[in-house]
Amino acid sequence: MTTVGLDFHITPNPAPAPEARRADILADPGFGKYFTDHMVSVTWTPQQGWHDASLRPYGPISMDPATAVIHYAQSIFEGLKAYRHDDGSIVTFRPEQNAARFQRSAKRLALPELPTQIFVDAIDLLVRTDAAWVPTRAEQSLYLRPFMFASEVFLGVKPASHVSFYVIASPAGAYFAKGLKPVSIWISEEYTRAALGGTGAAKCAGNYAASLVAQQEAIENGCDQVVFLDAVERKWVEELGGMNLYFVHADGRIETPTLTGSILEGVTRDSILTLAADLGHEVVENRIAIDDWRAGVSSGEIVEVFACGTAAVVTPVGKLAWRGGELAMGDGEPGPVTSKIRNALLAIQHGHAEDKHGWLHKVV
Ligand SMILES: *Cc1c(COP(=O)(O)O)cnc(C)c1O
Repeated sequence: MTTVGLDFHITPNPAPAPEARRADILADPGFGKYFTDHMVSVTWTPQQGWHDASLRPYGPISMDPATAVIHYAQSIFEGLKAYRHDDGSIVTFRPEQNAARFQRSAKRLALPELPTQIFVDAIDLLVRTDAAWVPTRAEQSLYLRPFMFASEVFLGVKPASHVSFYVIASPAGAYFAKGLKPVSIWISEEYTRAALGGTGAAKCAGNYAASLVAQQEAIENGCDQVVFLDAVERKWVEELGGMNLYFVHADGRIETPTLTGSILEGVTRDSILTLAADLGHEVVENRIAIDDWRAGVSSGEIVEVFACGTAAVVTPVGKLAWRGGELAMGDGEPGPVTSKIRNALLAIQHGHAEDKHGWLHKVV
């Protein structure tokens, strides 16, 4: 390892899941339900910096009830996947992008920035150790969840001087097990997700807590997901609770909302900017008004809308609904451009297409 790396203390799990149990789980892993045999953790204090790096059996974290994160939510996370290729090798997708975003999130939440090398080493070590948990079937992967939180025991309000970083891993099935199905989206008119100067661009736990009541409203109104508008004018389309949005125009032009400071910069969003251009589309970042979304679909100017993020990759949007109205998009099937982009991205991630942009990081 290089100078900024850490030596991880290794404690193998004395009782890993039996092979038959693992095979059962991998046959139908779902999402976020089962976890591998190990986890990684690293501790930070102002005196010692990042230290006490270890790989050990997956298990509960015991916490004092006065641990700061429970009270004040000083907590951030990441999400990325490891993919098994046909030759048996295992790769992750642009992990240094997640490391950089984790550093930006840390900065916003007054947490210490974890060096990219430690972030990537920690993930590589866990994936190598639990390689048997990386599924082999089409569109399956091992979902990796790095997270960092204030582990100082103190009820005073201040940035923690004891911080914990962990990585856990969870096998993930094909998100759309029964085939790609368009989702319906509810416009949140009452709630917003993030304001300028707030934490919208950080991947922090609190953003998700704040989005749940809006998501609940979407479900109550028969929709799958909620779309948030900007907090000032309630006019500009921002994103879903955990996915970015793309609009496909009749002339082939593809648009995504400009990063304003209150939108989370998805690695999938960024990859599609490049990939759609590779596929011959003009790609633009723009401010998109909710009324232009409705008008564009009605006039036929907007022909497809899709959401994107690591978990579901690319998801077609089939319906937009709000208090007093709704608008159907497409014919209940994913549109051709949505499918093309989705397949192109999956082909790179799963090793079925050339990795022209050097996005894959080989782990095993
Ligand atoms: C994680 C996340 C995304 C998607 O980011 P990816 O890096 O593509 O997975 C989009 N919006 C929000 C709010 C997120 O937390």
